[in-house]
Amino acid sequence: MLIDTHAHLDYPDFDPDRAEIISRAAEVGVTEIISIGTKIESSTRAVELAENFPNIWATVGIHPCDADEAPDDAVARLRELAQSTRVVALGEIGLDYHHLPEDAAAIIANKQRQAELFAAQLDLAVELGLNAVIHQRDSWEDTLAILYAYTGRVRCVFHCFGGTLEQAREVIALGHLVSFTGIVTFKNARQVQATAQEVAADKFMVETDCPYLAPAPDRGKRCEPAHTRRVAEKIAELRGTRVEEIAERTTATAREFFRFSR
Ligand SMILES: [Zn+2]
Ligand SMILES: [Zn+2]
Repeated sequence: MLIDTHAHLDYPDFDPDRAEIISRAAEVGVTEIISIGTKIESSTRAVELAENFPNIWATVGIHPCDADEAPDDAVARLRELAQSTRVVALGEIGLDYHHLPEDAAAIIANKQRQAELFAAQLDLAVELGLNAVIHQRDSWEDTLAILYAYTGRVRCVFHCFGGTLEQAREVIALGHLVSFTGIVTFKNARQVQATAQEVAADKFMVETDCPYLAPAPDRGKRCEPAHTRRVAEKIAELRGTRVEEIAERTTATAREFFRFSR
């Protein structure tokens, strides 16, 4: 049994065959899927999916790349969505400095908006007693600086983790987790492979981030939750263990972190 802890199941990429994709995942042992919100609309759809499929859970949140377009009442609307018992975390939230506006003034304003929204959503996580799914890209120091104030109050998972073992240990020491995508199967991904090989067995989860990041040999194609198995297989190979062992540990970690049916 495996849990895809980060899927964008609501995306239009899956409109033609969503139900098939969910059963295809179950056929290879990916029995539960967490559908991640990125805006109000996608969070709403994630909650709807979770209410319609017993093996799907939802997170609600505004992705940092959507910070500028977020409505002024975003936090109030997320609070309302989180009333559903199918919501298992805030997310994905954080900072993304990879996709920034062109000119200098707009960059400053955008970074400030991202930071405000990140902190406001962490406050909401504290208020609701939920954990958080963190997206950070090229923003490591600022992300940790904001998170630091929430240590012990919100537990987080650094999703699509691509950092060094030292960076993984840094966030684990603060009570957080990391999770790995199909990137671990890419030939040039030596850094994240080394991290996945060494990180503590009970401090990581697996995910697809589908429809993005299809594992090898399907890199570049549409990814789907069934591919979680290949992520787990690669990590098992790196760690010299059996895929069943990885499945069991990561599932236990995910159940404890997301507290399904809270
Ligand atoms: Zn992300
Ligand atoms: Zn994502």
